[in-house]
Amino acid sequence: MTWAELEAQNGGLRVADVFRTKVTHGEVITGKVPHGYRIEDKHLVLSEEAPAIQDTIFYFLKHQSMNQAVQYLKDTHGIIMSVQNFKQSILRNEKITGRYRSNDTYCPRLISDETFHQVQRILDHNSNIKSSQKYPYIFTGLLVCAECGQKMGGCHINTVSKRKDKTVLRYKYPAYECKRHRSFKKCDNGGAIREVRIEEYLLKNVKEQFGSYIADFEAKSKKTVDNRQKKNQLQKKNRPVKGFIFK
Ligand SMILES: [Zn+2]
Repeated sequence: MTWAELEAQNGGLRVADVFRTKVTHGEVITGKVPHGYRIEDKHLVLSEEAPAIQDTIFYFLKHQSMNQAVQYLKDTHGIIMSVQNFKQSILRNEKITGRYRSNDTYCPRLISDETFHQVQRILDHNSNIKSSQKYPYIFTGLLVCAECGQKMGGCHINTVSKRKDKTVLRYKYPAYECKRHRSFKKCDNGGAIREVRIEEYLLKNVKEQFGSYIADFEAKSKKTVDNRQKKNQLQKKNRPVKGFIFK
């Protein structure tokens, strides 16, 4: 159906006006229905998936990780969604509070306004970190997975710690992981190594290697000293006659 047909069918009403009227009456205007809802008599109602979606939103609130939430949704409730889809069609979708385009009772709500705002704050915070900090992974391409030999690439380890005053501190540590495990699960080496651990390792091992290098260098430079003494002796012969000072 074209826009013109749609307008004609509605007695010349502008399509936008039709949509506005539909929304005001809580009628569904797009075919896209978020998980947790379904359409009944042109209205959104909660679906059988609603408890699972709600549960996963709370899981996200607790763990503050979209990857983990999507994995949880799949493992616990058998619902497969991409991270992007989960974020845009659920977490960022005000319909889950029952509101849409300033109609406060557009559909049944999945979560409270307070929970929704909390989710938005976490998402805003997450994307700020992502967009403002492009971390330079200096060891990329230099580390090789001990299991499969694949080069390891940058990732990060998220930690959340709650303090006594109930403020939540979120930390993001740069780390490295086997990309063959991450992307294809074809390697068992699933752990990520913090960058600071690699630095510690290098420092310790470089120190040892550097130590032996210094010993070697000192042995060699002793020979150089010997040479110098010879040189000095040679140069003595060429010294200017005493009593002359060059200015
Ligand atoms: Zn590997």
